[in-house]
Amino acid sequence: MKSEELFEKAVQFIPGGVNSPVRAFGSVGEIPRFIKKAKGAYVYDVDHNKYLDYVGSWGPMILGHNRPEILESVIKASESGLSFGAATAREVEMAEFICENIPSIEMVRMVNSGTEAVMSAIRVARGYTGKDKIIKFEGCYHGHCDAMLVKAGSGVMTSGVPDSAGVPVGCAQDTLTGVYNDLASVQRLMEENEGSVAALILEPVGANMGLVPPKEGFLQGVRALCDKHNVILIFDEVISGFRLGFTGAQGFYQVVPDLTTYGKIIGAGMPVGAYGGKKEIMEMVAPLGNVYQAGTLSGNPIAMAAGLTQLKLLHKRPQIYKRLEELGEKLFGGIQKILQECEVPCTVNFIGSLGCLFFTEEIVVDYTTAKNSDTKLFSEFFKYMLGHKIYLAPSQFEAMFISYAHSEKDVDKTLDCIHKYFK
Ligand code: PMP
Repeated sequence: MKSEELFEKAVQFIPGGVNSPVRAFGSVGEIPRFIKKAKGAYVYDVDHNKYLDYVGSWGPMILGHNRPEILESVIKASESGLSFGAATAREVEMAEFICENIPSIEMVRMVNSGTEAVMSAIRVARGYTGKDKIIKFEGCYHGHCDAMLVKAGSGVMTSGVPDSAGVPVGCAQDTLTGVYNDLASVQRLMEENEGSVAALILEPVGANMGLVPPKEGFLQGVRALCDKHNVILIFDEVISGFRLGFTGAQGFYQVVPDLTTYGKIIGAGMPVGAYGGKKEIMEMVAPLGNVYQAGTLSGNPIAMAAGLTQLKLLHKRPQIYKRLEELGEKLFGGIQKILQECEVPCTVNFIGSLGCLFFTEEIVVDYTTAKNSDTKLFSEFFKYMLGHKIYLAPSQFEAMFISYAHSEKDVDKTLDCIHKYFK
């Protein structure tokens, strides 16, 4: 197997053989499949296997892989040069497009990843308020900047390292952690730290401890507590932005954050992130204000071209979101029916085109309940699906992503496979 050969070589030169831990298949007792190409809802590995893909590059491929319009925009933009390190018209177009369509955003700054977006938003919140403490939630992942590697989700949760070595005590001591979906935990933290909390950051839909939607009233309650205690509310919409509808989770739940962070989805697969929000706060950013944040490749012309093409397609055709919701209902609702029929003690959480099958009977509402999942059973399931050419994220604690390129037939095939497995 070529993937095996590549992996043997990779581990000699790359830590763990992968450039991001979530790509490792170790926790499910497998080796990573090395992907050669992707098209629509499918990825192809170096051994000529064709997999139905529910990872979608971890979110950005909402229209499916290698959509012709996006590919064309990338080729066209590349012909004019790959990077100038100077201002371009397309960055202005991107910023205007986001500000015109996302009501909470009056100014926006492009960066190169979700991690950078979060790191920068937190710095701005601290600069603006003159306070240091940040509240995050257990099981929410906000990238790998030091202050956010505290009780984080995603690969941090999969690997069983709740916090990371190498994070100085000083960097983590100002990060307080609340319990997702538990307003009382937020209230307590705010009261105990009155006057010293700069910001609260959360995934408005938890998508890095499996998929954990907010309980009714949770986001509204968080907003109200932030207002009461003078705390900046940051929605990390790296996953939910432009996916739960064009206006993301903030539009879906009608809760307005002060700052928003975006990632991969606005680059359509190119390395991108962005943070934005209230003008008064964003005016703190250099060179206008004294919060420093920079980037040689920020607003890269190719990334802007790809991202704008994807965002414009999504904006022009609201039926895309309706379709994604229908497919989500068909797939995740279908899994729920299978579980009932086969009397399997598992739980499904889903919203729109995001979902997760947890190997636990209990309702999953936060980090602790997600952690109750039987990861050994998940590994068996994962291997079965991979064997049947269905590519899931290699961890219980990641979401499944449906794209607009998935067909009813693809979903039926998936359900059929899951049905056979549980039978
Ligand atoms: N925030 C959230 C909610 C994420 O899901 C991720 C990564 N999946 C990040 C931040 C970090 O983004 P990146 O990997 O682009 O740095």
